[in-house]
Order: sequence, then structure tokens, then C-alpha cells
Amino acid sequence: MDKQAVTVIGLGPMGQAMVTAFLDNGHPVTVWNRTASRADALVARGAGRAATTTEALTASQLVILSLTDHDAMYAILEPAAAALPGRVVVNLSSDTPERARTAAEWVEQRGARYLTGGVQTPPSGIGSPEFSTLYSGPQEVFEAHRDTLRVLTGTDYRGSDPGLAALYYQLQMDMFWTTMLSYLHALALADANGISAKEFLPYATSTLSSIPSFMEFYAPRIEAGEHPGDVDRLAMGTASVDHVVHTTRDAGIDAALPSAVLEIFRRGMAEGHATDSFTSLVEVFRKAAA
Ligand code: NDP
Repeated sequence: MDKQAVTVIGLGPMGQAMVTAFLDNGHPVTVWNRTASRADALVARGAGRAATTTEALTASQLVILSLTDHDAMYAILEPAAAALPGRVVVNLSSDTPERARTAAEWVEQRGARYLTGGVQTPPSGIGSPEFSTLYSGPQEVFEAHRDTLRVLTGTDYRGSDPGLAALYYQLQMDMFWTTMLSYLHALALADANGISAKEFLPYATSTLSSIPSFMEFYAPRIEAGEHPGDVDRLAMGTASVDHVVHTTRDAGIDAALPSAVLEIFRRGMAEGHATDSFTSLVEVFRKAAA
């Protein structure tokens, strides 16, 4: 059976991995990149080079964007908008849910269909079904292209709102960056005390692998709006974070990160949650947003 033709616009590390996966699976691929030389190795492997963005859009019905953000999408598609009618644009570039909704409207107004995607693996995972990419947008459009998109990773369709894939992606980035920053902070603290990254590694992974069981325990309570202090109390957590701040200062390293955490714990205390679980801090976050 003939494989579906695909155009990939954006050849950073992610776009390059995507083109390679499509070529390996026998899909005809057309590529375009602002810096044309980044296409050279892929063209040598069999990809077709589009000289212009209009040519790139015309080459395939399915057009995948792998760009830094949505501003790059407008910069590329605006001058070639006449070639958009009839295309299916799958935007795998990160941005906010609101900007994903605006981009969907912008593309649909110009006669193309639109899916948002959020890739949940580094480029090395492209081509592996054990990783997955979040998608949202019109279900029939997703279903029609699911088999081709599966060449990249497994698929996780979140719903018709084009903002949803971006939202789930940002939820994960919210946790990822905070967690990784806390790892780097602990690493600097370990290092200041003569403990190497290698020595610290099993302790770091042990702490992080205990987190899922905490989340599974607390999630139903949080969902029910209950924060009983039967297992932990915010006052205990506040004292614990205070110890981290002091251990950090004693080591002579930057204490901005644990100090910010301490400030949030203290807000919870000031709002009367001392004898509740630390999960009551979710109410502090909700209040700040209101
Ligand atoms: P890069 O930022 O390295 O590459 C982005 C691409 O966007 C390049 O081809 C670049 O062109 C192009 N670009 C940027 N601005 C413009 C513009 N104004 N006009 C035209 N082209 C532009 O990103 P990655 O390849 O690493 O990632 C692509 C997307 O995938 C990003 O949204 C990223 O968040 C997401 N992602 C990346 C992961 C990763 O580990 N790399 C993991 C998960 C998601 P040029 O070559 O000319 O600079």
C-alpha cells in the first residue's frame, strides 16, 4: 500500500528525528527549513527539498510543523496562506493552550484543518511506540491521520478543544521543570558538601520514585477537598522546608528556590492550615489565582 505523503516544516533536532522516522517507514517526505542547510542530510537520505513554503504546503496534504513556537508558524505560513486550503496542519510546536486555540482558528479560517500536538519525548524517542504524543482538535481529522502520526510515537487524543493537547503538555512541563530544578539545587547542595553527582544519584532517584505513591494517596483526598492532618501537618512541612533553607545557607549556596517554597508554606500557615496536611497548599494556589 502507498504510504501517505508528509511535509515537515522545521528541522531542529525534533523535526530531523521526525523526518528520519517517516523516511524509515517508507513515507514520501518533503521538507522545508528557514536555514536551508539543515535539510541537506535528510535530502541525501531521500527527502524532497521544497524551495519555498508554498511548495512545501502543496507537496502533501498532511503538513507537520516542528518549530520553536507559534510565532514561527505565523512567520512561515502567512506568506504562503494561499496554499493552505485543503491541507491538514499538525502543529507539534510547543506553546500555550490559548495560543493553540488562536492558531487553530487562524489556520481553519484559511481553509485548512488543524491539530495541536504535544510531543512527550526528546528526539531520541521519535519512532518508538512506547512514548506518546498528545493530540487535540477535530476527532475525524485525528482519526484520518492517526496511522501516519503513529510513525512518530504512540498517540494520546485528548479531545476536540485544540487547547487541550497544549494544556496537558504544559501541566507536565510545570512538574518537569520544577522537579528538575529541585534536583539541580540538591545536586549543588550535595556538591558543596563534597558529595558527587554519582554518589547522590541513587538517593535522588529513590526520592523521586517515592513520589507516585504519595500522589496516588493524596489525589482522592484533594479531589474531595479534604486535607486532614492525620498523616502530615503543614506545620511539620514548614519546619522541614525551613531546615532545607538553613542547610542551603550553611553550605553557602543560593537559597532562592527553597526560600520560595518556604514562603508558600508560610502563606498556608498564615491562612490557618497549620494542622491540615501540606496538600492544603493547593487552596493557597487557588486563592492566588482568584
Ligand atoms: P528548535 O528550537 O531547535 O528548532 C526549531 C525550528 O524552528 C528550527 O527549524 C528553526 O529554524 C525554526 N524556527 C524558529 N523560529 C523561526 C522563525 N521565526 N521562522 C522560521 N523558522 C523558525 O526546536 P526543537 O527541534 O528542539 O523542537 C521543536 C519543537 O518540539 C519545540 O516546540 C519544542 O518545544 C518541542 N519539543 C522539543 C523537545 C526536544 O527535546 N527537543 C521535546 C519535546 C518537545 P532554523 O533552523 O532556521 O533556526
